[in-house]
Amino acid sequence: MPNGSYPMIDAHIHVDSYHPADAQRIMAECQSYGIEKVISVSMNLSSCLANRDWLQRYPGRVNVAYGFHPEQKLPAEAEIQQLFDWIDQHQTEMVAIGEVGLPYYTQLEASRNEQAFNQEPYIHLLERFIMTASRYDKPIILHAVYEDAEIACELLEKHNVTKAHFHWFKGSKATTLRMSRSGYYISVTPDVVYEVEIQQLILQYPLEQIMIETDGPWPFEGPFTGQLTHPAMMKESCQAIARLKGLSVEETASILYQNTKRFYKI
Ligand SMILES: [Zn+2]
Repeated sequence: MPNGSYPMIDAHIHVDSYHPADAQRIMAECQSYGIEKVISVSMNLSSCLANRDWLQRYPGRVNVAYGFHPEQKLPAEAEIQQLFDWIDQHQTEMVAIGEVGLPYYTQLEASRNEQAFNQEPYIHLLERFIMTASRYDKPIILHAVYEDAEIACELLEKHNVTKAHFHWFKGSKATTLRMSRSGYYISVTPDVVYEVEIQQLILQYPLEQIMIETDGPWPFEGPFTGQLTHPAMMKESCQAIARLKGLSVEETASILYQNTKRFYKI
């Protein structure tokens, strides 16, 4: 590792959503930026298959999670069952179930357009994923923000699931407190550098339950405007978190790194 660098883990990235040439370059560059591992989450069955290829190409560097991203139309039951069957067959490869959750932004868009939206099938699907995570004793990676985080908390409590990672979490102070007390983890993206809402979340949440991620290839603003999202951006995240927590960058990065290793057993 180069001088002045420290090991980092990207706790949430979509390696398979990059152009393959970009993903290839990013994975090849990781070591030089101190990126020891990434956790690549899946959108659906074809995404699971693509991530499985990246796992085989970069064993030890790419870890995978299998799931169905909630911000999309639900497929027919037969297709959903096919995904669960596939996960059953491949569960030993995955470090977690993910990305799963509830369609906050899709629902918001529907209500802005005065369209009806039925959240129930999504809640039902999330519950199935929570039960699957519980059955295999794996963590679950959640896309559940604002009011949806409360619904996710209810379901996690109902099934006694405690290994929950709310990625790119945003929510009320009360929800945040409920999650930290339940021992759930959150992760923040490079927007911690410029988003006041995320900086306030860092101030409120215990450092021992925080991880860092990029959610790449999702693009960022502020100092990252126009750049292809790269796990190396997390160096700026570490610096921002260190400033907010009043610790050195090295100590902060070390705690974030250990948190991710402990949570995912990687
Ligand atoms: Zn994601």
